[in-house]
Amino acid sequence: MTAETLKILIIGAHPDDCDLHAGGTAALWRGHGHDVRFVSVTNGESGHHQMSGEELVTRRRNEAAASGATLEIRYDVLNNRDGYLQPTIEARFEIIALIRQYNPDLILTHRPNDYHPDHRYTSQLVCDAAYMVTVPPIVPEVPALRDNPIIAYLSDTFERPYRLAPTVAVDIEPVLDKVVAMLDCHESQFYEWLPYNMRREDEVPSDPDERLKWLKGFYLGWIDSFADRHRDLVIATYGPERGRTIRYIEAFEPCEYGAPLNEAAIKRLFPFVP
Ligand SMILES: [Zn+2]
Repeated sequence: MTAETLKILIIGAHPDDCDLHAGGTAALWRGHGHDVRFVSVTNGESGHHQMSGEELVTRRRNEAAASGATLEIRYDVLNNRDGYLQPTIEARFEIIALIRQYNPDLILTHRPNDYHPDHRYTSQLVCDAAYMVTVPPIVPEVPALRDNPIIAYLSDTFERPYRLAPTVAVDIEPVLDKVVAMLDCHESQFYEWLPYNMRREDEVPSDPDERLKWLKGFYLGWIDSFADRHRDLVIATYGPERGRTIRYIEAFEPCEYGAPLNEAAIKRLFPFVP
């Protein structure tokens, strides 16, 4: 039996969302020789307090490219304006073409209810592209897929209208430093804009080594709650002994507009999950 190379397409709203929400699982896929592609649907032009427009877009494209390089993956930053995203027919066609060209085994994206409108509309665009990717007269210049891909949602902590209901939990502790190395590339975000926006700018050390340590703490603070939120699933997946002690996970909820993420599909798509 020859091992299959999976194609995983992660579609986030901004340059850093893929890394932050699925960087650990992406690192595991890469470690198993699978193909992963990150896409930012917007250009990131509004994610800063001191710069914007083309200057910021260029900076963020470079940051995304550097982050992608750490996993040797492609990181596409589309041209839609950050903070202006709408689920238009043009944007839908762009996503349909992108999905068809890559023909992924699995797509990951935000949930449709999220604090950021760009995240919401990215989710809607992916949901709107689901199924339509198989319809030949839609975007006729890019051949339609025969099969609808599997789609799953990235983790978040929003409670309304319902809490994330994952069926896949991935222990990412072995690759935490790889995620931090990716996030470290997004200097404009993790050392400038996000600390400023969270009124934590005074915390960021100027020394690069200290800064990296601080970033790891910041990141672990962000994913810290997921394992406990989904502890039953973690225990069901990894067994009671290991399942109780796992601290850092990424979890994924099936999107019912994609092909079913059933048990066989989970086994195939997440080969590092027991
Ligand atoms: Zn975002």
